[in-house]
Amino acid sequence: MVNTEVDVVIVGAGIVGAALAVRLAKSGLRLAVVEPVPPAAPADTWDSRVYAISPGSARLLSEAGVWQQIDPHRLGPVHAMDVRGDHGARLVLDAYEAGVAELAWIVESGRIQHALWQSLQQQDNLYLLTGVSGVTLAWTGERSRLELSDGSVVSAGLVVAADGRPSWVRQQARLEARREDYHQSGVVANFACEHSHRQIARQWFRADGILAWLPLPDDVVSMVWSTDPVHAAELAGLSPDQLAARVADAGGRVLGDMHLVTPPAVFPLSILRVPSLVAPGLALIGDAAHGVHPLSGQGVNLGLRDVAALASILLARGDAGCGELALLRRYERARRGDILAMQGVTDGLHRLFRTRNPLVAALRNAGMDVLQRIEPLKSVLIRQALS
Ligand SMILES: Cc1cc2nc3c(=O)[nH]c(=O)nc-3n(C[C@H](O)[C@H](O)[C@H](O)COP(=O)(O)OP(=O)(O)OC[C@H]3O[C@@H](n4cnc5c(N)ncnc54)[C@H](O)[C@@H]3O)c2cc1C
Repeated sequence: MVNTEVDVVIVGAGIVGAALAVRLAKSGLRLAVVEPVPPAAPADTWDSRVYAISPGSARLLSEAGVWQQIDPHRLGPVHAMDVRGDHGARLVLDAYEAGVAELAWIVESGRIQHALWQSLQQQDNLYLLTGVSGVTLAWTGERSRLELSDGSVVSAGLVVAADGRPSWVRQQARLEARREDYHQSGVVANFACEHSHRQIARQWFRADGILAWLPLPDDVVSMVWSTDPVHAAELAGLSPDQLAARVADAGGRVLGDMHLVTPPAVFPLSILRVPSLVAPGLALIGDAAHGVHPLSGQGVNLGLRDVAALASILLARGDAGCGELALLRRYERARRGDILAMQGVTDGLHRLFRTRNPLVAALRNAGMDVLQRIEPLKSVLIRQALS
């Protein structure tokens, strides 16, 4: 049990909250991090939660000394993205053509979390409060008072909500959050493949949803199939061999036979819009601040860009207090455009490919073909993927 005063308390140490803590750790700011469930040490088996980490996010983790701690044999570089429409359209983004080494890295969530956690444990100006969660949180004047389930009390100039979509902190601050259910679920599972995936990420916009195969090392792919909940439940209920055959067939058997190596898990999908990302003494980051459809694999990347923006504003604050609203508004302004754009694109694509109208179906496939042929438009897409 501790009773302490800090400059910044970060509530939630998922990838985003932990990355902010590591980024701020050498700044001289006094920090506290609250996390009820610290990550387990990674196992040899493949994690069911896998992320496409953009080169920009990898750079941020690298500058914080974390990326280097992830076993390189568990990093899957993406050399190309091959996206297929439901009426024969095709869009290919290629790292070589774009003049970059890779478009993204496919990495297990647990590996990133563990590397971040190890770094957090080595910081000395940081209180790591684990196995506890918030009980009460109130702001008085320029400070907040956070009481934890073990009786600890943390007083801070700035509270950072990094506690995921339901965000207890956001609720205590009574900040509005609008969640719109997509009436879809994401089925995730990993498969070993007969043929090499050649470091190509593949995505199919299908009548029954969006299927993605992300290339992990050892010719394993991580699948995300966003589909209606009944279909998702049916897929999750298949035997391992039946599911592998169904997934291989859905992808036209381009990687030959598949073999299930991580059992399926199912996540409900929704979009979360949060109109205000800040209040006096409070900033929201990561999924506490926004939720997007996983079709672009950008949730963690958006969150890590929040981290970069908030850290640089806090580090350049001069005489201002960490919780001053004028300072925090700069963070909000810096992030608003990126978040709205990502929500607009993923929501728009989801709706565009959900409609059964044959005219819309023809138009969306024609649109992909146009993108494929116009190099400047492809460059815009690639620049977005790399950030
Ligand atoms: C099916 C699916 C596939 C996805 N694929 C991708 C992908 O390929 N690429 C990508 O970038 N994103 C992807 N995402 C999105 C990604 O999972 C999220 O954007 C990401 O996990 C958000 O990280 P976070 O740290 O903000 O929140 P979280 O990961 O939710 O972490 C929140 C942390 O806060 C802690 N916490 C919770 N409550 C409290 C409390 N009261 N007090 C203190 N701590 C608390 C939790 O224990 C947790 O550690 C996918 C999502 C889904 C559903």
